[in-house]
Amino acid sequence: MIKENARKLLDELPPGVKLVAAAKTRTPDEIQEAIDAGVNIIGQNYVQEAQNAFRIIGNRARWHFIGHLQKNKAKKAIEIFDMIETVDSLGLAAELNKRCLTKGRFMPILIEVNSGREPQKFGVLPEETENFIRQIASFEGIKVQGLMTMGPMFGDPEDARPYFQETGRTYEHIKSLDIPNVEMKYLSMGMTNSFRVAIEEGANIVRIGTLIFGPR
Ligand SMILES: *Cc1c(COP(=O)(O)O)cnc(C)c1O
Repeated sequence: MIKENARKLLDELPPGVKLVAAAKTRTPDEIQEAIDAGVNIIGQNYVQEAQNAFRIIGNRARWHFIGHLQKNKAKKAIEIFDMIETVDSLGLAAELNKRCLTKGRFMPILIEVNSGREPQKFGVLPEETENFIRQIASFEGIKVQGLMTMGPMFGDPEDARPYFQETGRTYEHIKSLDIPNVEMKYLSMGMTNSFRVAIEEGANIVRIGTLIFGPR
């Protein structure tokens, strides 16, 4: 079933839109099935869960971190992940930068935008995103490559549209500034329920779990 679901989804996505299979709570076998169907990026929310899957699957996929990263997990995270999609504080950016410089590598990152301005959610507010990026742009161990947002959860995905639109405007604005060392090329938004709307609003990364793996 996972294979069929993944193939169908990959067929539906327009060219240029990357699929991140959001794999929280899924077993390495389930993840491998998705990879066999052509999925090549796996999203993980927890470093420890990712370590277990990575031990088995390794470089047969690329790994994106999509959860909330605690600073004390940054060192482990940079050993596994190809991109951190959820940088949401100066402290985390500085810690990732330091760890990457020590290892002699750089980490592509996205800035998580709290587009719904929800107090219980992580992320930088849309109006603070430009300033936040300017503060970390010179960090040589990390490289800003775009924005990510969750947005509030709704039953009707149309209700998510304004939040995707605002994130899209913020993305285009920052792109137009041509900030040195900042490469705005990825806009990660949309999940099982909302990915079609997100793509209409400019997403070129979608993060999808349920539609591939079934209900959690
Ligand atoms: C779980 C998760 C997803 C995917 O959610 P589904 O509704 O299962 O598609 C996407 N993004 C993040 C950050 C997630 O934690």
